[in-house]
Amino acid sequence: MKKRILLVIALCTGLLVVGAERTFIPPRICPLPTQCDIVSTEWLPLTTVSVACSDSEGLDWAKRHLKIWYGKQAPRIVAASRNTSDLGKEAYELRTTDSGVEIDASTLQGLRYALYSLRQLAVADHGTAKVTGWTLPKTVIRDEPAMAFRGMHICWFHETEPWEVERLIRLAAYYKLNYAVIESWGSFRSKVAPWYGWPDGSMSRREVRRLVKLAKDLGITLIPQVNCFGHATMARGGASKHAGLDFSPQYQSLFEPHNGWNWCLSNPETRKLLQDLIAEQLEVFDNPPYFHIGCDEAELPSCPACIRQPYSQLLLNHIEALNTTIREHGAQAMMWHDMLLERGDSRWKGFYANGTKETATGFLKFPRDIIICDWFYDGAKEAYPTMEYFKSQGFHVLSCPWFNAAGIMSQGKYASQIELFGMLGTLWHHYFGWDMTSSYYYLSNMAWNGNGFLQSEKDLSNIATHLRQMGWDMGTKDPRHTGIFYDEIPPEPQLNN
Ligand SMILES: [Zn+2]
Repeated sequence: MKKRILLVIALCTGLLVVGAERTFIPPRICPLPTQCDIVSTEWLPLTTVSVACSDSEGLDWAKRHLKIWYGKQAPRIVAASRNTSDLGKEAYELRTTDSGVEIDASTLQGLRYALYSLRQLAVADHGTAKVTGWTLPKTVIRDEPAMAFRGMHICWFHETEPWEVERLIRLAAYYKLNYAVIESWGSFRSKVAPWYGWPDGSMSRREVRRLVKLAKDLGITLIPQVNCFGHATMARGGASKHAGLDFSPQYQSLFEPHNGWNWCLSNPETRKLLQDLIAEQLEVFDNPPYFHIGCDEAELPSCPACIRQPYSQLLLNHIEALNTTIREHGAQAMMWHDMLLERGDSRWKGFYANGTKETATGFLKFPRDIIICDWFYDGAKEAYPTMEYFKSQGFHVLSCPWFNAAGIMSQGKYASQIELFGMLGTLWHHYFGWDMTSSYYYLSNMAWNGNGFLQSEKDLSNIATHLRQMGWDMGTKDPRHTGIFYDEIPPEPQLNN
């Protein structure tokens, strides 16, 4: 055990001293496996992978993907009959032996994770101009995720291009996350309400279907999001744009008059439209098990009809109706938490509470099958009373950090301690650069193994290899589509992010 701990620390810090003069740099797998023993510094050729997997699709998946990754030098896959029944549904074991690599998994998902680890371990043979084969260190990995829900929230802004979303989805799957929430920000081309979204939005129904299929193959489920309370503008607040009203003023009655940020909750046409939009996206996303209804940063109702009704009841009726629609489609609703806590309540001091006494009261009657996404973007805290509160009220809760490394680790540890449902990382408009790297690295480690180690940018720089691998898989040819910054000298918004 001591040796294993030392090796894990060595993997995290990046170096093992070999002899007096050389340093051995072991491949750094992200997320770090729960048990990873590099038995020696001996490197073995990657010529054969013996796969024991109870899922009949496993062998085909392995053959297809190893061919994509390694081309003509792909290792030979052979089926094995080792017993895998004691492995959990996302667990795997990977061993190197003198005759090749052995992988055990009881499901296709476990096999995918084993092969993602293998891909991060193996390096090209050296000594020739072009690759002739692959090699990896002698290794034993026993691995299984700590959390059931491991997700990343990805924004599809008006400026966002499909390749960016695809690369983020691929990286999330590669880092063993099992869900990605896709928030459309006016980019989705709705048939139900073509006016609600930018006319040149790049999130076409065809593109979404392609990504959903791709994600499924990679082992990650895409979850759609429609903002059903605040953020109804589908544009960043600071931009003062409205992806619906800027070009379609005839629909002003559906939104609160102050600035159109909120939907008008007392208008029955609002609810009907949102239910149709939810049903449409659930269908285009191939009926996923979850649907995110947003609901963060809402403002007080302000139209003459809404202010005549008790706010808590208005909100409760709205959420119950939408939740029923989502439930009828076989999915579960997810929502951001901040409107459910009263601003000024001393229990939430230092945390995000944007609600009123009325919204906090209405929340107590919410259906318990709604998943609460508790977002907190600051540094480390000793305790997270908001997470505990939502859990104590009988909800499944996700801890949702942004890019603050100490914060992600602290939230992850606390979420593990109180046995939360999982974590949902966020990127917002920082979907490039070191902030993106931090979000992906720490989130995947905390959600996977409940542990993390603060890394320098240099230590995190092996994301360059991982993004390059995603680019190879995508057939990337545009120099701007590689690396963590699009340009070598990033324009102002990327520098000043
Ligand atoms: Zn209203």
